[in-house]
Amino acid sequence: MKVLVLNSGSSSLKYRVFDMTDESVLASGLVERIGLTGIQQITHERTGADKVTVEKDIPNHKQALSDVFELLTDSEHGVLTSLSDVHAVGHRVLHGKEAFKDSVLVDRDVVSTLKDFVEMGPLHMPANIGGIEACLEILGDSVPQVAVFDTAFHQTMPEYAYTYAIPYEMYEKYGVRRYGFHGTSHKYLTQRAAEILGKSLDEINLITAHMGNGCSITAVEKGKCIDTSMGLTPLEGLVMGTRSGDLDPAVLPFLGDKLGLGLAELDEFLNKKSGLLGISGLSNDMRDIHRARKEGNSRAQLAFDMFVYRLAKYVGAYYVALGGKVDALVFAGGIGENDDELRAAACEKLSGLGIVLDESVNTGLRGKEATISASESKIRVMTLPTNEELMIARDTKRLAEGK
Ligand code: ADP
Repeated sequence: MKVLVLNSGSSSLKYRVFDMTDESVLASGLVERIGLTGIQQITHERTGADKVTVEKDIPNHKQALSDVFELLTDSEHGVLTSLSDVHAVGHRVLHGKEAFKDSVLVDRDVVSTLKDFVEMGPLHMPANIGGIEACLEILGDSVPQVAVFDTAFHQTMPEYAYTYAIPYEMYEKYGVRRYGFHGTSHKYLTQRAAEILGKSLDEINLITAHMGNGCSITAVEKGKCIDTSMGLTPLEGLVMGTRSGDLDPAVLPFLGDKLGLGLAELDEFLNKKSGLLGISGLSNDMRDIHRARKEGNSRAQLAFDMFVYRLAKYVGAYYVALGGKVDALVFAGGIGENDDELRAAACEKLSGLGIVLDESVNTGLRGKEATISASESKIRVMTLPTNEELMIARDTKRLAEGK
């Protein structure tokens, strides 16, 4: 079975074609700057073979998708003989609210429900839905399409973990609560860690930290999420590239007043101008933060220290949430998988939990599956490259086969 996985962003479309007989990736690519001024381009790669870049006018997601299908069936660069080679399509979808606790086969009713959720992700949801509708138009109803939600894995949180301490009617009326995101990644990390540790899902307890541009951390008990750091939107929790994570909500009216900013501008302030970028005044990229702090830049050092401290605080909180029974702390995402200095600093801060790093394994380790804690460490610490696309492809296959 060949499965196409799509991740439609507001101006981008990422794709990957899997052959599910061995879960290999046949081709992958990225369409950039869809609908924006300037040059739009597609970068397309056949695994282990050629890579091409095509520049052309791409005004919307439907056009982007037909261009991708053209490349995928191209006699020179393609990996499919015709469109009928696509057996199922999996879509990454930001928000499933409480309606979707698992991935779902898409029909017209599901699309209409998703349209009601646009206010939960005004940037991402229209693009996610656009990708689904474009596929329905081009491939027709006979090719199964599956929506895989960033929120679904977190739907097992207990009420006391997901409810905000504001008037309860806000939850009842508007669905204001913690939903959590990066769920597909946390689910993959949970399954992979269980496999590696030789445990069944219902006996594994983990703390999984996905740290890329966006960062989130999840407490997993018996294979299920019991708490996670992101909230109603992906803004709450850890310090991120450009997002503030946790702060006193009273900062908003205070700054709104001081700076004369409206609610939309404050939202942008916290989402786009804060985090590592806001503190350092330099960059949202952890590699730049390292370079600057090593040159003696004190604000870059502060940004790094805050990132590590917030992460360690959450690990401590989730250790308690899990009753002190943690099989492993897992680092993933661009930072978690590649940044040995960050991992070392975090483990140092966590020494109170009996965590001991094996420097000889950790130092220089990038993008690999490994246990980086020493044998005497009370909690095992692992790095696991996450694979959200594979998780989406597996769910798509499962549902397309009616399982
Ligand atoms: P996204 O959340 O957009 O998927 P990634 O998971 O690719 O992002 O993570 C991107 C971040 O990973 C970059 O902003 C950068 O800070 C960090 N990163 C990547 N490689 C390294 C590295 N070698 N050392 C430190 N940080 C890194």
